[in-house]
Amino acid sequence: MEGLSALGAETLNAARAEDALEAVADVIRRTLDVTRCEIYLRDDSRGGIALAAASGQSPNGRSVAVSDDVPHRDGESPLGLPSRERLIEWVAGSGQTALERGDGTVRIGSTHGADFGGLDPAEARAFVLPLRVRDRTVGVLRIAQQNALALDAAKRRFLETISYYAALGVERVRLVAEAGRAESLKREDEMKNALLASVSHDLRTPLTTIKALAHDIGVEGDERAVTIEEEADRLNRFVADLLDLSRLAAGGLALNIEINEVEDLVGVALQRVSGAQGSRAINVTIDSATTPLVGRFDFVAALRILVNLLENALKYSPSHTAIELRVRREGDALEFVVADRGRGVPPAERERIFEPLYRPTDSLPDVGGAGLGLAIARRLAVAQNGSVRHEPRDGGGSLFIVQLPAADVDSAAEGANLDV
Ligand code: ADP
Repeated sequence: MEGLSALGAETLNAARAEDALEAVADVIRRTLDVTRCEIYLRDDSRGGIALAAASGQSPNGRSVAVSDDVPHRDGESPLGLPSRERLIEWVAGSGQTALERGDGTVRIGSTHGADFGGLDPAEARAFVLPLRVRDRTVGVLRIAQQNALALDAAKRRFLETISYYAALGVERVRLVAEAGRAESLKREDEMKNALLASVSHDLRTPLTTIKALAHDIGVEGDERAVTIEEEADRLNRFVADLLDLSRLAAGGLALNIEINEVEDLVGVALQRVSGAQGSRAINVTIDSATTPLVGRFDFVAALRILVNLLENALKYSPSHTAIELRVRREGDALEFVVADRGRGVPPAERERIFEPLYRPTDSLPDVGGAGLGLAIARRLAVAQNGSVRHEPRDGGGSLFIVQLPAADVDSAAEGANLDV
């Protein structure tokens, strides 16, 4: 037996994580003198398990059948496993060892320990072991022999040790892939920002011309001019939003952080949404029983956040329902809650709705804009040390919760004329 010495430092340190794992699979196969060694990577983010490295002739594809008469040892029985893939997934999920017998049936061992989960490799055609790093199953190792595996004590000890190296190798492959994904997302983001900045500049000039022309046509009595002007205005707002978003992403939007009163902010916000509100009720509660609520924030940016959330609440909830706006002090923060009785946001979309240009596929084309409002709102809040998040509302509907830094009334009085 070649033993662990066959696994030189250069093997585990191979430049590419995948190569290192291939080398481990190869060493295992040769050392144990088996026909096939497979190492699987568990990837929860993609919801499954994937073959990461293999050595030896490929399997014949025969699926394993688990029959009722198999005397399972402890633990859950994987009765009804349709295929070898399912068995591998099961081992990854349960952390238990499994053994495929010559007749295609399966035996299940306990959680992998020094004794291979209590299973005897003598009766195995293949062994399926969970690979662990710090008590977490990161992958699965499967070794198979054409007929029966013959693992003597030395080979078992070797398998025990090498499976830890295989686990580390799997973890390395996963981390490298994760880092790669993060890097490509970052590049994608940078490109998107550059594109946003250039597109929005280029769009603004012709829009001004279109608006001027529409105005002239309107003066001459053509009623279609009103529609053109309205559409041009809508597009103009969209372009302005795009520009702001790219500035926010690049950290180039100047904010004027000052001490402001919540009453003032809410008053102006309600005025702004009065057009969209029509006859609908917006019930406001400002919890300032003892002292007036004040915060340290940019008034215009905070107004934009609040107006956007109120407009969304009006847009995405039935017209006979009321909107609530509640403001209170929560530790060091001012907390604004905009609550509606709309259809809410499914859990899978709770974060996605804050991504630029994201609109759920089933959103109605005639309500709402382009999916920039929440992305801008969150970035504006974060830029002044605040936050915006969504939570489901008891009884149905949405809560959009904004936090902005609070200030104390004393400092408000002192700093009334100060730029902070
Ligand atoms: P827009 O309203 O222009 O689409 P937003 O960024 O403001 O853009 O919102 C993004 C998406 O989030 C909307 O398309 C909508 O699906 C969802 N959304 C926003 N506010 C609410 C709400 N109060 N209730 C339900 N869904 C909402």
